[in-house]
Amino acid sequence: MTTPASTSTDGTGGVPNTGEMVRAEQVRKRFGRHEVLRGVDLSVPTGQVCCVIGPSGSGKSTFLRCINHLEKIDGGRLWVDGELVGYRQRGTRLHELKPSEVAAQRREIGMVFQQFNLFPHMSAVENVMEAPVRVRREGRSAARQHAEHLLERVGLRDHLRKHPAQLSGGQQQRVAIARALAMRPKLMLFDEPTSALDPELVGEVLEVMRQLALDGMTMVVVTHEMGFARDVADSVVFMDDGVVVESGRPSEVLTDPRHDRTRAFLQRVL
Ligand code: ADP
Ligand code: MG
Repeated sequence: MTTPASTSTDGTGGVPNTGEMVRAEQVRKRFGRHEVLRGVDLSVPTGQVCCVIGPSGSGKSTFLRCINHLEKIDGGRLWVDGELVGYRQRGTRLHELKPSEVAAQRREIGMVFQQFNLFPHMSAVENVMEAPVRVRREGRSAARQHAEHLLERVGLRDHLRKHPAQLSGGQQQRVAIARALAMRPKLMLFDEPTSALDPELVGEVLEVMRQLALDGMTMVVVTHEMGFARDVADSVVFMDDGVVVESGRPSEVLTDPRHDRTRAFLQRVL
């Protein structure tokens, strides 16, 4: 593996905190001989919602996983809130962060997957309390109070003690969102959060996400829900074959795309 390119010399990692929550410059990732991310450039200002769209296999999940340290980039640079992801810069050299420092970066990022991945043997409240108690060492009673508050916020006040098997898919995904929020993240990543849901359950999850956006959370959302992208996103990014083909306001990218590849994709999904 080659280390990400190191060009800047200011010792801060190149990009001071300029109000960007996520910044990617020429991010590369390969699996064996397959280069999945071939130079991804992207910027998400703090407090904004960025929807990432694109065909299956274009690298959307891999990109999200790089932001959240689930994959390590092979080239380029990636910052979250002005900090290099996984590296510290000294002079012109990049040094890998220690595992404890990586863990600290990860704690500030919430992620919600297509599959809800709740602990089946725990109630909704226990699922939401788990990380704050175990990772952040919060007291159980404060963690429980916060968990109940978050579950109320996602509309599950009447389901606090239920186990995942007693909840619908839409309810489980809302528990998963509350669980991610319990760590008080500054950034939320969503990877096709409604793709595993029956169509009648999609709306309740999107509504919770819309509310979260209105509350000012910075969000990167991989989705095929073009209505959500149009109504909620500040920017839409179209990825194809490991690169960002175009990005802009939803009205530009979704209604009046500049590139044939974007137009062809939209014709298939709309
Ligand atoms: P998307 O989310 O846009 O559908 P992915 O990021 O999941 O795309 O995948 C992009 C490409 O990378 C696909 O060809 C996929 O098979 C490949 N890929 C993803 N993860 C791995 C992995 N861990 N090992 C090998 N190939 C992978
Ligand atoms: Mg994916």
